Amino acid sequence: MSPAADPTPPGLNPLAWRLAERIAQEGPITAADYMTACLHDPEHGYYATRPRLGAEGDFITAPLVSQMFGEMLGAWVAEVWVRLGQPAPFRLVEVGPGDGTLMSDMLRVLARAPGLLAAAELWLVESSQPLRARQAERLAGHAPQWAGRLSEVPAGAPMILLANELLDCLPVRQFLRTSAGWAERRVGLDAEGRLAFGLAPTPPDFRPPPGLDQPPEGVIVELSPAQAAFGTVIGARIARDGGAALLIDYGRAAPEPGDTLQALVAHQKVDPLACPGEADLTVHADFSTVAAAARQAGADTAPILGQGEFLLRLGVEHRAAALAQARPDLAERIGRQLARLVDPDQMGALFKVLAIHQNGHPVPGFEA
Ligand code: SAH
Repeated sequence: MSPAADPTPPGLNPLAWRLAERIAQEGPITAADYMTACLHDPEHGYYATRPRLGAEGDFITAPLVSQMFGEMLGAWVAEVWVRLGQPAPFRLVEVGPGDGTLMSDMLRVLARAPGLLAAAELWLVESSQPLRARQAERLAGHAPQWAGRLSEVPAGAPMILLANELLDCLPVRQFLRTSAGWAERRVGLDAEGRLAFGLAPTPPDFRPPPGLDQPPEGVIVELSPAQAAFGTVIGARIARDGGAALLIDYGRAAPEPGDTLQALVAHQKVDPLACPGEADLTVHADFSTVAAAARQAGADTAPILGQGEFLLRLGVEHRAAALAQARPDLAERIGRQLARLVDPDQMGALFKVLAIHQNGHPVPGFEA
């Protein structure tokens, strides 16, 4: 890695240029800092400026595959609320609500639970201004309130929290096992001044993930202090005020090695360093770390389930059958959507569900 060559190499986009200048001055940056800049840089970050969700955009999520997803989660929330003793008020929190589809599908179901909506205070934790605007449009009439981070949602009442495909946006640091021990994988500059991966010494407090302390040479492991911190905040809030949380994402249920940094433009994988801020940049959720952090903070967690198994336990195939009966002309499409959500070779197995709950209050779908 060498300082940026002069003049600027052609083809650097504005954020790449800015990062190249920063790296030339400060040295290579961690994968986590790179991710944060790509997603949230106020002028050029993907979510801050140009989030494109959906079939016409860069990536698709379960609520955008089918209304059944949000409806099942709505039924889950209603049952949790009853099991908690119908607390009023309670905070209904979604973190990273995207275009608001998931919450709007959930609210349709929640409206049928007597007293629930009157007791619910709706909070949306969202960093992206363009997405806040779309949420405001879609959820007009439900008086949502917004927060930039979960800790800004006032404590003092039970919380039922949902987050779909949020953990995969929370940045990771990456570490490579070399013949000489561990090194941190960082983003620096190549001889032409373009962004390139390189290696730097590990920080003094570096500890490899449990079970991965002596992997073969060439193996990359990821650590996400941000995902762990999210588990801590949720766990502490639930331990204090009561409630439950459901986190759904693609990722691993137990520590596993691997570089999972992935950039998508128009549903196609692109080089994560090629066009910073123009691609959605994600990593695999590290569920065991999030769960351990939540337990450490005083809450309980349920065994992690695949999304397919979870939705089937909640009865998604009955919902699909009812929808198909009401619209026989759409039956085939509904069948395809169901398969997409639950089949193990589609979203059913790679996507996982972590429930965090108040001690002594197990949540639906996770009973043995
Ligand atoms: N849950 C939605 C959208 C997933 S995309 C769905 O399933 O369709 C990720 C969402 O998380 C977006 O709304 C994005 O703006 C938001 N987000 C990403 N990082 C965030 C952060 N650090 N804090 C709050 N919201 C964040």
